[in-house]
Amino acid sequence: MKQETAHTAEGAADICARYGFDAVARQNRLDLLELGAADRIQAQRLHQAVIMPQATALVERFYDFQQRFPEIMRAIGNRENLERLKRTQQGYLLSLGQEFEGEVYFADRLRVGEIHALRNIPLSLYQASYRHLQQLLIEAIPEELQHDHAGYAALRAFILKITSLDMNLAVETYHSARVAALRESVDSLQHEHRHLRDKVGRDALTGLANRETVLHELESALATVGSRGAELCLIMADVDHFKQINDTYGHLAGDKVLQCIATKLQLLLREFDIVGRFGGEEFIIVLEDTPLAIATRVAERICAGVEHELIECDEQRIRLTISLGLTQAAARDDVRTLIRRADDALYQAKEEGRNRVVVI
Ligand code: GH3
Ligand code: MG
Ligand code: MG
Repeated sequence: MKQETAHTAEGAADICARYGFDAVARQNRLDLLELGAADRIQAQRLHQAVIMPQATALVERFYDFQQRFPEIMRAIGNRENLERLKRTQQGYLLSLGQEFEGEVYFADRLRVGEIHALRNIPLSLYQASYRHLQQLLIEAIPEELQHDHAGYAALRAFILKITSLDMNLAVETYHSARVAALRESVDSLQHEHRHLRDKVGRDALTGLANRETVLHELESALATVGSRGAELCLIMADVDHFKQINDTYGHLAGDKVLQCIATKLQLLLREFDIVGRFGGEEFIIVLEDTPLAIATRVAERICAGVEHELIECDEQRIRLTISLGLTQAAARDDVRTLIRRADDALYQAKEEGRNRVVVI
């Protein structure tokens, strides 16, 4: 029994925490509804004089009213559920206003709202039902209590306040359920967006960044050269005699060669270097914050790395080479002038016999 109480208390703390109802927030909510210590006396009067003697009848009348709402009846389902709900509702009524400042009281009310939200019962119907419950409770105040005008007014005010607390907490749960659903759909849209953006920005064959992505990144990187004098180098690389590879081994083998070169480039470069497929068998590499001497060593390493790797394809070993044109960005450069200079260097490397790096 003790254990059960501890469990209930723990669940109540969790649910209150989930909806942000710590002790301060609970007190704020009670203050808003003008529910105070004096209302404890009214809670006892409500319990003893109104609810206890008429709990069953009140529940019957409450469910008679609910029959008007097909949505609610659909959510209830069958007669068995209806009887079960009536018993729950009776328990709920018997606890109405009892220790209303407590965590357990708030948690129980939040749970009720949560269940209604989960069953997709519109908040307006929930509120209509509870408005009716207010009325039923007020009408159930016994005749003899109605003669004491001040006492009657205080009890009536308490009924309005305590049922408003329930409606208030239900609004919280509906609101949270909706926010949670929206957050979930925003998260999944963002995930999809990232996935699509990544897919759109990549070359399908090699998985490297595509031409547009690299040009975009180059433009941003180039701005740092003008603004803070950063050192940036650009390499254009082109596979030598690639047409012969296609002619000799077939187009599919050529594709595989391109994939192998892309992997090789990624292996030889640092993680933050920008490498992309510029088109056909041509690759582009942007080395940010890199002096020309270092960039030259990187280009030489790529040239030697490709030359020394035999690419295996359908039990054939393909040997190939690559030519590279390298240039360093100056403050006056834009994307167009920089690429043209790297292209000129690449053209010169081809002219001079391929399988080499030319720096301009
Ligand atoms: P060079 O040494 O002067 O660069 O000679 P090259 O044969 O490499 O140059 P060329 O421009 O004459 O030929 C490039 C070939 O690359 C022609 C084209 O069919 C092939 N190619 C372009 N894109 C692809 C592709 O995605 N897959 C395959 N397999 N081949 C491609
Ligand atoms: Mg080529
Ligand atoms: Mg080419």
